[in-house]
Amino acid sequence: MKREQLKASFAKKKKFLASIEGNQKKPLYQPKAPDVPKGLYEKCSACNNTFPQTDVIRNQLVCPHCHNHFRARAIDRIGMTVDAQTFVEKGFGYITLNPLFQEGYDQKVQQYKQTTNLDEAYVYGYAEIHGEACVIGVMDSYFMMGSMGSVVGEKVTKSIEYALYKKLPLIIFTASGGARMQEGIYSLMQMAKTSSALKKMDRQGLLYISVLTHPTTGGVTASFAMLGDIILAEPKALIGFAGPRVIEQTIRQSLPEGFQTAEFLLEKGMVDKVVHRHEMKKTLYTILKMHSRREL
Ligand SMILES: [Zn+2]
Repeated sequence: MKREQLKASFAKKKKFLASIEGNQKKPLYQPKAPDVPKGLYEKCSACNNTFPQTDVIRNQLVCPHCHNHFRARAIDRIGMTVDAQTFVEKGFGYITLNPLFQEGYDQKVQQYKQTTNLDEAYVYGYAEIHGEACVIGVMDSYFMMGSMGSVVGEKVTKSIEYALYKKLPLIIFTASGGARMQEGIYSLMQMAKTSSALKKMDRQGLLYISVLTHPTTGGVTASFAMLGDIILAEPKALIGFAGPRVIEQTIRQSLPEGFQTAEFLLEKGMVDKVVHRHEMKKTLYTILKMHSRREL
């Protein structure tokens, strides 16, 4: 009888513990998925309005109501920045390896390759902007948050070297979560590699324009993103190194409002101009034209 009672009390205790564990795993508030058919409508995260996707695409992925800039894929960015049919992609055949043998990394890369139709998070090539020749490189934040691993670092370096070889100005649109965790030290080494390639470009007197888009953080901000001769940024783009919570915890002070936004950095002199996406092509053309080496 005693044994049975003990068994029953154990079962009760086990059930109680399981129920607590179950409750802990469940989030207190479960957001409901919006009832918007995928691919037809786009919801703006800033003003919560919903628009037909065609309207948003026609408006260069900018909210028609509040002008919030949506994240753009590399292919869209190139399409809205350079002259039609002038882009010639360079730098193929790179294979992302798993140098630290991280579990699940290969599968993850494979998955992103399929969903984004890209080899890696960076695309570059030759292009013209209103007839002005340049080398353009674009990071794609849809590929593993645009994180910089060995291949991204190598492709960025190759794009700089290609601009050097062709003696052309270089434009890089950055969008990155920083160095790629899965590649550890190999990711961090890309910061030095890209920076030293840019130094060579600087010695040759070639123009490098860096365009910071939402979000540009971590090792990318700490290397080639901030080394532009001219640094442009898109409105309200998040630009920083570490996240605001980490900084607050480290310095034990609350941060000012708008910290790490493009406008804040403009005020502090880290960015030369905040440019609306509708004005980006025109602005880039003006800068390229001003620095053109064509003889008069
Ligand atoms: Zn909006």
